[in-house]
Amino acid sequence: MTARVLVVDDILANVRLLEAKLSAEYFEVVTAMNGVDALESLQRTQPDIILLDVMMPGMDGIEVCRRIKSDPLSRHIPVVMVTALDQPEDRIRGLEAGADDFLTKPVNDIALFCRVKSLVRLKMLTDELRSRLPAGDISLLQAEESELGDRHGNILLIDNRGHLADRIASSLEGRHQMTWSQDPQQAVSEAAATQFELLIINLDLQDFDGLRLCSQLRSLERTRQIPILIIVDPDDNDRMMRALDMGVNDYLLRPIDKQELLARVNTQIKRWRYTEKLRNNVQQSLELAVADPLTGLYNRRYMESQVGLMVDAAANRGRALSVLALDVDFFKSVNDTHGHAAGDRVLIELAERLKQHTRSMDLPCRVGGEEFLVVLPDTDASVAQQIAERLRMAICGAPFNAGPAAPLLPVTVSIGIAAFEDSSDTLAEMLRRADEALYRAKREGRNRVISEAA
Ligand code: GH3
Ligand code: MG
Ligand code: MG
Repeated sequence: MTARVLVVDDILANVRLLEAKLSAEYFEVVTAMNGVDALESLQRTQPDIILLDVMMPGMDGIEVCRRIKSDPLSRHIPVVMVTALDQPEDRIRGLEAGADDFLTKPVNDIALFCRVKSLVRLKMLTDELRSRLPAGDISLLQAEESELGDRHGNILLIDNRGHLADRIASSLEGRHQMTWSQDPQQAVSEAAATQFELLIINLDLQDFDGLRLCSQLRSLERTRQIPILIIVDPDDNDRMMRALDMGVNDYLLRPIDKQELLARVNTQIKRWRYTEKLRNNVQQSLELAVADPLTGLYNRRYMESQVGLMVDAAANRGRALSVLALDVDFFKSVNDTHGHAAGDRVLIELAERLKQHTRSMDLPCRVGGEEFLVVLPDTDASVAQQIAERLRMAICGAPFNAGPAAPLLPVTVSIGIAAFEDSSDTLAEMLRRADEALYRAKREGRNRVISEAA
Protein backbone atom coordinates (compact mmCIF):
# COMPACT_ATOMS: atom_id res chain seq x y z
CA MET A 1 0.00 0.00 0.00
CA THR A 2 1.27 3.47 -0.74
CA ALA A 3 -0.15 6.83 0.15
CA ARG A 4 0.75 10.49 0.51
CA VAL A 5 1.47 11.56 4.08
CA LEU A 6 1.63 15.16 5.23
CA VAL A 7 4.00 15.47 8.21
CA VAL A 8 3.64 18.67 10.24
CA ASP A 9 6.12 19.60 13.00
CA ASP A 10 7.92 22.80 13.91
CA ILE A 11 11.17 20.98 14.72
CA LEU A 12 13.15 20.01 11.63
CA ALA A 13 14.71 16.92 13.25
CA ASN A 14 11.25 15.52 14.03
CA VAL A 15 10.07 16.12 10.47
CA ARG A 16 13.17 14.44 9.04
CA LEU A 17 12.86 11.42 11.33
CA LEU A 18 9.24 10.70 10.39
CA GLU A 19 9.99 11.41 6.75
CA ALA A 20 12.82 8.86 6.77
CA LYS A 21 10.73 6.15 8.42
CA LEU A 22 7.79 6.65 6.08
CA SER A 23 9.87 6.93 2.91
CA ALA A 24 11.62 3.68 3.81
CA GLU A 25 8.19 2.03 3.67
CA TYR A 26 7.48 3.70 0.31
CA PHE A 27 5.06 6.29 1.53
CA GLU A 28 5.20 9.58 -0.32
CA VAL A 29 5.95 12.33 2.19
CA VAL A 30 5.18 16.03 2.08
CA THR A 31 6.11 18.30 4.98
CA ALA A 32 5.12 21.55 6.63
CA MET A 33 6.68 23.31 9.61
CA ASN A 34 3.80 25.39 10.92
CA GLY A 35 0.02 25.39 11.00
CA VAL A 36 -0.54 27.95 8.28
CA ASP A 37 1.77 26.13 5.85
CA ALA A 38 0.08 22.85 6.72
CA LEU A 39 -3.36 24.18 5.78
CA GLU A 40 -2.00 25.66 2.59
CA SER A 41 -0.14 22.45 1.67
CA LEU A 42 -3.27 20.42 2.33
CA GLN A 43 -5.15 22.12 -0.49
CA ARG A 44 -2.29 21.77 -2.88
CA THR A 45 -1.07 18.24 -2.15
CA GLN A 46 -4.31 16.44 -1.20
CA PRO A 47 -2.66 14.04 1.28
CA ASP A 48 -4.23 10.71 2.33
CA ILE A 49 -3.31 11.24 5.96
CA ILE A 50 -1.84 13.95 8.18
CA LEU A 51 0.59 13.48 11.08
CA LEU A 52 0.21 16.61 13.14
CA ASP A 53 2.41 17.80 16.00
CA VAL A 54 0.39 19.35 18.82
CA MET A 55 2.88 21.86 20.17
CA MET A 56 3.77 24.46 17.55
CA PRO A 57 4.26 28.21 17.91
CA GLY A 58 1.52 30.35 16.34
CA MET A 59 -1.36 28.11 15.32
CA ASP A 60 -1.02 24.89 17.34
CA GLY A 61 -1.88 21.40 16.11
CA ILE A 62 -5.24 21.36 17.89
CA GLU A 63 -6.37 24.45 16.00
CA VAL A 64 -5.05 23.09 12.69
CA CYS A 65 -6.99 19.88 13.31
CA ARG A 66 -10.17 21.78 14.16
CA ARG A 67 -9.92 23.71 10.89
CA ILE A 68 -9.30 20.58 8.82
CA LYS A 69 -12.26 18.83 10.40
CA SER A 70 -14.64 21.75 10.05
CA ASP A 71 -14.05 22.09 6.29
CA PRO A 72 -16.27 19.72 4.27
CA LEU A 73 -13.54 19.52 1.63
CA SER A 74 -10.91 18.18 4.03
CA ARG A 75 -12.72 16.55 6.92
CA HIS A 76 -12.51 13.06 5.42
CA ILE A 77 -8.69 13.19 5.56
CA PRO A 78 -7.56 11.29 8.66
CA VAL A 79 -5.55 13.28 11.21
CA VAL A 80 -3.15 11.65 13.68
CA MET A 81 -2.02 13.94 16.50
CA VAL A 82 1.55 13.47 17.66
CA THR A 83 1.66 14.25 21.39
CA ALA A 84 4.28 14.31 24.11
CA LEU A 85 4.03 11.40 26.54
CA ASP A 86 3.85 13.76 29.53
CA GLN A 87 0.92 15.74 28.12
CA PRO A 88 -2.00 13.28 28.33
CA GLU A 89 -4.54 16.11 28.27
CA ASP A 90 -3.42 16.90 24.68
CA ARG A 91 -4.99 13.62 23.62
CA ILE A 92 -8.37 14.65 24.91
CA ARG A 93 -8.12 18.08 23.31
CA GLY A 94 -7.03 16.44 20.03
CA LEU A 95 -9.93 14.03 20.02
CA GLU A 96 -12.32 16.84 20.84
CA ALA A 97 -10.96 18.74 17.85
CA GLY A 98 -11.86 15.74 15.68
CA ALA A 99 -8.49 13.94 15.45
CA ASP A 100 -8.81 10.34 14.31
CA ASP A 101 -5.94 8.95 16.33
CA PHE A 102 -2.79 9.89 18.19
CA LEU A 103 0.80 8.78 18.55
CA THR A 104 3.14 9.59 21.40
CA LYS A 105 6.71 10.82 20.98
CA PRO A 106 9.17 9.20 20.57
CA VAL A 107 7.16 7.54 17.81
CA ASN A 108 7.32 3.76 17.89
CA ASP A 109 7.52 2.10 14.43
CA ILE A 110 4.81 -0.49 14.99
CA ALA A 111 2.38 2.10 16.27
CA LEU A 112 3.23 4.45 13.42
CA PHE A 113 2.66 1.95 10.63
CA CYS A 114 -0.33 0.28 12.27
CA ARG A 115 -2.19 3.55 12.64
CA VAL A 116 -1.14 5.04 9.32
CA LYS A 117 -1.99 1.91 7.35
CA SER A 118 -5.31 1.35 9.05
CA LEU A 119 -6.40 4.94 8.50
CA VAL A 120 -5.19 5.03 4.90
CA ARG A 121 -6.96 1.76 4.14
CA LEU A 122 -10.15 3.20 5.53
CA LYS A 123 -9.76 6.40 3.56
CA MET A 124 -9.25 4.46 0.35
CA LEU A 125 -12.39 2.49 0.98
CA THR A 126 -14.45 5.57 1.69
CA ASP A 127 -12.92 7.42 -1.29
CA GLU A 128 -13.95 4.59 -3.53
CA LEU A 129 -17.46 4.45 -2.12
CA ARG A 130 -17.76 8.22 -2.39
CA SER A 131 -16.71 8.19 -6.01
CA ARG A 132 -19.56 5.80 -6.77
CA LEU A 133 -22.18 8.03 -5.19
CA PRO A 134 -24.02 10.75 -7.04
CA ALA A 135 -22.60 14.18 -6.13
CA GLY A 136 -25.64 15.21 -4.11
CA ASP A 137 -25.31 12.28 -1.69
CA ILE A 138 -21.82 13.24 -0.61
CA SER A 139 -22.82 16.40 1.18
CA LEU A 140 -25.62 14.45 2.80
CA LEU A 141 -23.16 11.88 4.10
CA GLN A 142 -20.80 14.55 5.32
CA ALA A 143 -23.58 16.26 7.22
CA GLU A 144 -24.49 13.02 8.91
CA GLU A 145 -20.97 11.90 9.66
CA SER A 146 -20.76 13.91 12.85
CA GLU A 147 -23.92 12.26 14.15
CA LEU A 148 -22.50 8.80 13.68
CA GLY A 149 -20.45 9.00 16.84
CA ASP A 150 -23.32 9.95 19.10
CA ARG A 151 -25.25 6.69 19.43
CA HIS A 152 -24.22 3.94 21.89
CA GLY A 153 -22.02 1.34 20.24
CA ASN A 154 -22.68 -2.39 20.51
CA ILE A 155 -19.45 -4.12 21.56
CA LEU A 156 -18.48 -7.73 22.19
CA LEU A 157 -15.59 -8.37 24.58
CA ILE A 158 -14.00 -11.80 24.21
CA ASP A 159 -11.92 -12.72 27.23
CA ASN A 160 -11.83 -15.85 29.38
CA ARG A 161 -9.41 -14.53 31.98
CA GLY A 162 -11.70 -12.07 33.59
CA HIS A 163 -9.34 -9.38 34.83
CA LEU A 164 -10.00 -7.06 31.87
CA ALA A 165 -13.76 -7.00 31.89
CA ASP A 166 -14.28 -4.64 34.82
CA ARG A 167 -11.78 -2.09 33.68
CA ILE A 168 -13.06 -2.11 30.10
CA ALA A 169 -16.68 -1.98 31.20
CA SER A 170 -16.01 1.02 33.44
CA SER A 171 -14.12 2.84 30.67
CA LEU A 172 -17.05 2.40 28.30
CA GLU A 173 -19.79 3.00 30.81
CA GLY A 174 -22.49 5.36 29.65
CA ARG A 175 -20.97 5.52 26.17
CA HIS A 176 -21.34 1.99 24.81
CA GLN A 177 -23.17 -1.27 25.36
CA MET A 178 -20.76 -4.12 26.12
CA THR A 179 -21.46 -7.85 26.04
CA TRP A 180 -18.86 -10.10 27.67
CA SER A 181 -18.22 -13.51 26.15
CA GLN A 182 -16.04 -15.85 28.21
CA ASP A 183 -16.03 -18.70 25.72
CA PRO A 184 -13.89 -17.88 22.64
CA GLN A 185 -15.31 -20.72 20.53
CA GLN A 186 -18.85 -19.70 21.18
CA ALA A 187 -17.94 -16.06 20.66
CA VAL A 188 -17.36 -16.65 16.96
CA SER A 189 -20.96 -17.72 16.39
CA GLU A 190 -22.18 -15.00 18.73
CA ALA A 191 -20.30 -12.37 16.72
CA ALA A 192 -21.72 -13.78 13.50
CA ALA A 193 -25.30 -13.79 14.78
CA THR A 194 -25.58 -10.41 16.48
CA GLN A 195 -25.05 -6.91 15.13
CA PHE A 196 -21.82 -6.02 16.92
CA GLU A 197 -19.94 -2.96 15.76
CA LEU A 198 -16.65 -3.79 17.44
CA LEU A 199 -14.96 -6.87 18.89
CA ILE A 200 -12.44 -6.37 21.69
CA ILE A 201 -10.27 -9.45 22.12
CA ASN A 202 -7.77 -10.34 24.80
CA LEU A 203 -5.02 -11.86 22.65
CA ASP A 204 -3.68 -13.67 25.69
CA LEU A 205 -6.57 -16.10 26.22
CA GLN A 206 -6.54 -19.03 28.64
CA ASP A 207 -6.17 -22.39 26.80
CA PHE A 208 -7.06 -20.81 23.46
CA ASP A 209 -4.97 -19.29 20.71
CA GLY A 210 -6.03 -15.66 20.39
CA LEU A 211 -4.49 -15.44 16.91
CA ARG A 212 -6.58 -18.39 15.76
CA LEU A 213 -9.68 -16.62 17.04
CA CYS A 214 -8.77 -13.48 15.07
CA SER A 215 -8.14 -15.50 11.93
CA GLN A 216 -11.50 -17.31 12.27
CA LEU A 217 -13.29 -14.00 12.65
CA ARG A 218 -11.49 -12.57 9.65
CA SER A 219 -12.32 -15.53 7.39
CA LEU A 220 -16.05 -15.79 8.17
CA GLU A 221 -18.30 -13.90 5.79
CA ARG A 222 -20.52 -12.59 8.59
CA THR A 223 -17.71 -11.27 10.77
CA ARG A 224 -15.05 -10.36 8.20
CA GLN A 225 -15.87 -6.65 8.20
CA ILE A 226 -16.42 -6.06 11.92
CA PRO A 227 -13.52 -4.10 13.40
CA ILE A 228 -11.31 -5.91 15.91
CA LEU A 229 -9.33 -4.24 18.69
CA ILE A 230 -6.89 -6.52 20.50
CA ILE A 231 -5.47 -6.10 23.98
CA VAL A 232 -1.82 -7.22 24.16
CA ASP A 233 1.16 -7.30 26.50
CA PRO A 234 3.90 -4.82 25.57
CA ASP A 235 6.39 -7.72 25.24
CA ASP A 236 4.14 -9.71 22.92
CA ASN A 237 5.33 -7.88 19.81
CA ASP A 238 5.51 -10.80 17.41
CA ARG A 239 1.96 -11.96 17.97
CA MET A 240 0.70 -8.42 17.79
CA MET A 241 2.35 -7.96 14.39
CA ARG A 242 0.82 -11.21 13.13
CA ALA A 243 -2.59 -10.08 14.32
CA LEU A 244 -2.26 -6.76 12.51
CA ASP A 245 -1.16 -8.59 9.35
CA MET A 246 -4.29 -10.69 9.62
CA GLY A 247 -6.44 -7.61 9.42
CA VAL A 248 -6.98 -6.80 13.08
CA ASN A 249 -7.74 -3.09 13.05
CA ASP A 250 -6.05 -1.75 16.15
CA TYR A 251 -4.31 -2.72 19.38
CA LEU A 252 -4.04 -1.46 22.90
CA LEU A 253 -1.17 -2.26 25.25
CA ARG A 254 -1.62 -3.45 28.80
CA PRO A 255 -2.04 -1.90 31.33
CA ILE A 256 -5.10 -0.37 29.75
CA ASP A 257 -5.27 3.40 29.71
CA LYS A 258 -9.00 4.08 30.04
CA GLN A 259 -8.92 7.26 28.03
CA GLU A 260 -6.99 5.68 25.19
CA LEU A 261 -9.33 2.70 25.17
CA LEU A 262 -12.38 4.91 24.88
CA ALA A 263 -10.74 6.97 22.13
CA ARG A 264 -9.82 3.88 20.09
CA VAL A 265 -13.24 2.32 20.59
CA ASN A 266 -14.98 5.52 19.51
CA THR A 267 -12.81 5.80 16.41
CA GLN A 268 -13.39 2.22 15.33
CA ILE A 269 -17.13 2.42 15.84
CA LYS A 270 -17.41 5.72 14.05
CA ARG A 271 -15.48 4.37 11.08
CA TRP A 272 -17.56 1.20 11.02
CA ARG A 273 -20.78 3.19 10.95
CA TYR A 274 -19.49 5.52 8.30
CA THR A 275 -18.48 2.73 5.94
CA GLU A 276 -21.70 0.80 6.63
CA LYS A 277 -23.67 3.88 5.75
CA LEU A 278 -21.75 4.39 2.55
CA ARG A 279 -22.16 0.73 1.67
CA ASN A 280 -25.93 0.92 2.19
CA ASN A 281 -26.12 4.08 0.16
CA VAL A 282 -24.25 2.56 -2.73
CA GLN A 283 -26.45 -0.52 -2.49
CA GLN A 284 -29.52 1.68 -2.56
CA SER A 285 -28.43 3.67 -5.57
CA LEU A 286 -27.58 0.44 -7.38
CA GLU A 287 -31.07 -0.85 -6.63
CA LEU A 288 -32.63 2.39 -7.77
CA ALA A 289 -30.84 2.05 -11.06
CA VAL A 290 -32.40 -1.35 -11.74
CA ALA A 291 -35.77 -1.20 -10.02
CA ASP A 292 -38.93 0.77 -10.52
CA PRO A 293 -39.48 2.59 -7.19
CA LEU A 294 -43.28 2.08 -7.04
CA THR A 295 -43.50 -1.65 -7.72
CA GLY A 296 -39.94 -2.92 -7.23
CA LEU A 297 -40.10 -4.57 -10.66
CA TYR A 298 -37.13 -4.12 -13.00
CA ASN A 299 -37.14 -0.94 -15.04
CA ARG A 300 -36.82 -0.78 -18.80
CA ARG A 301 -33.16 0.25 -18.74
CA TYR A 302 -32.21 -2.75 -16.65
CA MET A 303 -34.26 -5.11 -18.82
CA GLU A 304 -32.53 -3.82 -21.93
CA SER A 305 -29.11 -4.26 -20.34
CA GLN A 306 -29.89 -7.85 -19.36
CA VAL A 307 -31.77 -9.13 -22.35
CA GLY A 308 -28.83 -8.90 -24.78
CA LEU A 309 -27.43 -12.27 -23.71
CA MET A 310 -30.83 -13.90 -24.16
CA VAL A 311 -31.16 -12.49 -27.66
CA ASP A 312 -27.64 -13.76 -28.44
CA ALA A 313 -28.54 -17.22 -27.15
CA ALA A 314 -31.66 -17.20 -29.32
CA ALA A 315 -29.79 -15.98 -32.41
CA ASN A 316 -26.69 -18.18 -32.09
CA ARG A 317 -27.73 -21.23 -30.19
CA GLY A 318 -31.32 -21.72 -31.29
CA ARG A 319 -32.75 -20.98 -27.83
CA ALA A 320 -36.35 -19.80 -27.68
CA LEU A 321 -37.30 -16.35 -26.37
CA SER A 322 -40.63 -14.58 -25.99
CA VAL A 323 -41.89 -11.25 -24.70
CA LEU A 324 -45.27 -10.26 -23.32
CA ALA A 325 -46.51 -6.67 -23.52
CA LEU A 326 -49.17 -6.07 -20.92
CA ASP A 327 -51.41 -3.05 -20.34
CA VAL A 328 -54.09 -2.47 -17.73
CA ASP A 329 -57.58 -2.05 -19.20
CA PHE A 330 -59.40 1.22 -18.52
CA PHE A 331 -56.89 2.11 -15.85
CA LYS A 332 -57.67 5.79 -16.18
CA SER A 333 -61.11 5.13 -14.70
CA VAL A 334 -59.54 3.60 -11.56
CA ASN A 335 -57.71 6.87 -10.97
CA ASP A 336 -60.70 8.97 -11.93
CA THR A 337 -63.10 7.10 -9.67
CA HIS A 338 -60.97 6.16 -6.66
CA GLY A 339 -58.00 8.51 -6.80
CA HIS A 340 -54.37 8.24 -7.80
CA ALA A 341 -53.34 6.51 -4.55
CA ALA A 342 -55.81 3.71 -5.19
CA GLY A 343 -54.39 3.44 -8.71
CA ASP A 344 -50.89 3.11 -7.26
CA ARG A 345 -52.02 0.31 -4.95
CA VAL A 346 -53.49 -1.55 -7.89
CA LEU A 347 -50.19 -1.26 -9.76
CA ILE A 348 -48.24 -2.56 -6.74
CA GLU A 349 -50.53 -5.55 -6.31
CA LEU A 350 -50.49 -6.25 -10.02
CA ALA A 351 -46.68 -6.31 -9.93
CA GLU A 352 -46.86 -8.77 -7.02
CA ARG A 353 -49.12 -11.07 -9.01
CA LEU A 354 -46.75 -10.87 -11.99
CA LYS A 355 -43.82 -11.83 -9.77
CA GLN A 356 -45.75 -14.69 -8.21
CA HIS A 357 -46.73 -16.20 -11.53
CA THR A 358 -43.43 -16.00 -13.35
CA ARG A 359 -40.24 -18.05 -12.96
CA SER A 360 -37.10 -16.67 -11.36
CA MET A 361 -35.33 -16.46 -14.73
CA ASP A 362 -38.11 -14.37 -16.26
CA LEU A 363 -37.78 -10.59 -16.27
CA PRO A 364 -41.01 -8.81 -15.35
CA CYS A 365 -40.58 -5.05 -15.76
CA ARG A 366 -42.64 -1.93 -15.53
CA VAL A 367 -41.94 0.07 -18.66
CA GLY A 368 -44.48 2.87 -18.31
CA GLY A 369 -47.37 4.06 -16.14
CA GLU A 370 -49.63 1.01 -16.40
CA GLU A 371 -47.61 -0.80 -19.02
CA PHE A 372 -45.54 -3.87 -18.25
CA LEU A 373 -43.26 -6.24 -20.10
CA VAL A 374 -42.34 -9.79 -19.23
CA VAL A 375 -39.31 -11.28 -20.96
CA LEU A 376 -39.44 -15.08 -21.04
CA PRO A 377 -36.12 -16.80 -21.86
CA ASP A 378 -36.21 -20.37 -23.24
CA THR A 379 -39.91 -19.98 -23.97
CA ASP A 380 -41.49 -20.48 -27.38
CA ALA A 381 -44.71 -18.89 -28.62
CA SER A 382 -47.07 -21.66 -27.49
CA VAL A 383 -45.67 -21.80 -23.95
CA ALA A 384 -45.68 -17.99 -23.86
CA GLN A 385 -49.38 -18.17 -24.76
CA GLN A 386 -50.03 -20.41 -21.74
CA ILE A 387 -48.03 -18.18 -19.42
CA ALA A 388 -49.82 -15.07 -20.68
CA GLU A 389 -53.18 -16.74 -20.17
CA ARG A 390 -52.13 -17.72 -16.63
CA LEU A 391 -51.13 -14.12 -15.87
CA ARG A 392 -54.38 -12.78 -17.31
CA MET A 393 -56.36 -15.17 -15.10
CA ALA A 394 -54.26 -14.34 -12.04
CA ILE A 395 -55.29 -10.71 -12.53
CA CYS A 396 -58.95 -10.92 -13.50
CA GLY A 397 -59.54 -13.93 -11.23
CA ALA A 398 -59.61 -11.99 -7.95
CA PRO A 399 -60.46 -8.32 -7.28
CA PHE A 400 -57.76 -5.91 -6.08
CA ASN A 401 -57.46 -4.26 -2.71
CA ALA A 402 -57.12 -0.60 -3.61
CA GLY A 403 -56.88 0.68 -0.05
CA PRO A 404 -59.21 1.39 2.89
CA ALA A 405 -61.17 4.09 1.06
CA ALA A 406 -61.97 2.05 -2.07
CA PRO A 407 -64.05 -1.07 -2.64
CA LEU A 408 -62.40 -4.24 -3.95
CA LEU A 409 -61.80 -3.55 -7.62
CA PRO A 410 -62.02 -5.89 -10.57
CA VAL A 411 -58.98 -5.35 -12.80
CA THR A 412 -58.21 -6.82 -16.21
CA VAL A 413 -55.25 -6.65 -18.55
CA SER A 414 -54.68 -7.08 -22.26
CA ILE A 415 -51.57 -8.94 -23.38
CA GLY A 416 -49.69 -9.10 -26.67
CA ILE A 417 -47.11 -11.81 -27.38
CA ALA A 418 -44.10 -11.90 -29.69
CA ALA A 419 -41.59 -14.73 -30.04
CA PHE A 420 -38.05 -14.64 -31.43
CA GLU A 421 -38.19 -15.60 -35.10
CA ASP A 422 -34.83 -16.04 -36.75
CA SER A 423 -31.27 -14.85 -36.33
CA SER A 424 -32.06 -11.51 -37.96
CA ASP A 425 -34.69 -10.76 -35.30
CA THR A 426 -33.96 -8.11 -32.65
CA LEU A 427 -35.34 -7.10 -29.30
CA ALA A 428 -36.67 -3.83 -30.72
CA GLU A 429 -38.53 -5.71 -33.44
CA MET A 430 -40.00 -8.17 -30.94
CA LEU A 431 -41.20 -5.37 -28.70
CA ARG A 432 -42.80 -3.64 -31.67
CA ARG A 433 -44.65 -6.84 -32.68
CA ALA A 434 -45.75 -7.50 -29.09
CA ASP A 435 -47.16 -3.95 -28.92
CA GLU A 436 -49.03 -4.48 -32.15
CA ALA A 437 -50.57 -7.67 -30.77
CA LEU A 438 -51.48 -5.78 -27.61
CA TYR A 439 -53.34 -3.13 -29.58
CA ARG A 440 -55.28 -5.85 -31.32
CA ALA A 441 -56.20 -7.32 -27.93
CA LYS A 442 -57.49 -3.88 -26.91
CA ARG A 443 -59.45 -3.44 -30.12
CA GLU A 444 -60.98 -6.87 -29.90
CA GLY A 445 -62.49 -6.22 -26.49
CA ARG A 446 -59.68 -6.24 -23.86
CA ASN A 447 -59.07 -8.80 -21.09
CA ARG A 448 -57.52 -11.14 -23.61
CA VAL A 449 -54.24 -12.49 -24.96
CA ILE A 450 -53.28 -12.06 -28.60
CA SER A 451 -50.22 -13.60 -30.19
CA GLU A 452 -48.54 -11.87 -33.13
CA ALA A 453 -49.03 -15.02 -35.17
CA ALA A 454 -52.76 -15.22 -34.54
P1 GH3 B 1 -56.81 1.20 -22.11
O1 GH3 B 1 -57.67 0.06 -21.74
O2 GH3 B 1 -57.01 1.67 -23.50
O3 GH3 B 1 -55.37 0.92 -21.80
O4 GH3 B 1 -57.27 2.41 -21.19
P2 GH3 B 1 -56.48 3.13 -20.05
O5 GH3 B 1 -57.39 4.02 -19.30
O6 GH3 B 1 -55.75 2.12 -19.21
O7 GH3 B 1 -55.38 3.88 -20.88
P3 GH3 B 1 -54.76 5.31 -20.88
O8 GH3 B 1 -53.42 5.14 -21.49
O9 GH3 B 1 -55.72 6.29 -21.50
O10 GH3 B 1 -54.62 5.72 -19.38
C1 GH3 B 1 -53.58 5.25 -18.57
C2 GH3 B 1 -53.72 5.93 -17.25
O11 GH3 B 1 -52.78 5.41 -16.33
C3 GH3 B 1 -53.50 7.40 -17.29
C4 GH3 B 1 -52.64 7.72 -16.10
O12 GH3 B 1 -53.27 8.65 -15.28
C5 GH3 B 1 -52.56 6.42 -15.39
N1 GH3 B 1 -51.25 6.22 -14.79
C6 GH3 B 1 -50.06 6.17 -15.41
N2 GH3 B 1 -49.06 5.98 -14.51
C7 GH3 B 1 -49.63 5.92 -13.29
C8 GH3 B 1 -49.13 5.74 -11.95
O13 GH3 B 1 -47.93 5.57 -11.71
N3 GH3 B 1 -50.01 5.71 -10.95
C9 GH3 B 1 -51.35 5.85 -11.18
N4 GH3 B 1 -52.16 5.81 -10.14
N5 GH3 B 1 -51.84 6.05 -12.41
C10 GH3 B 1 -51.00 6.07 -13.45
MG1 MG C 1 -54.27 0.94 -20.10
MG1 MG D 1 -51.57 2.80 -21.55
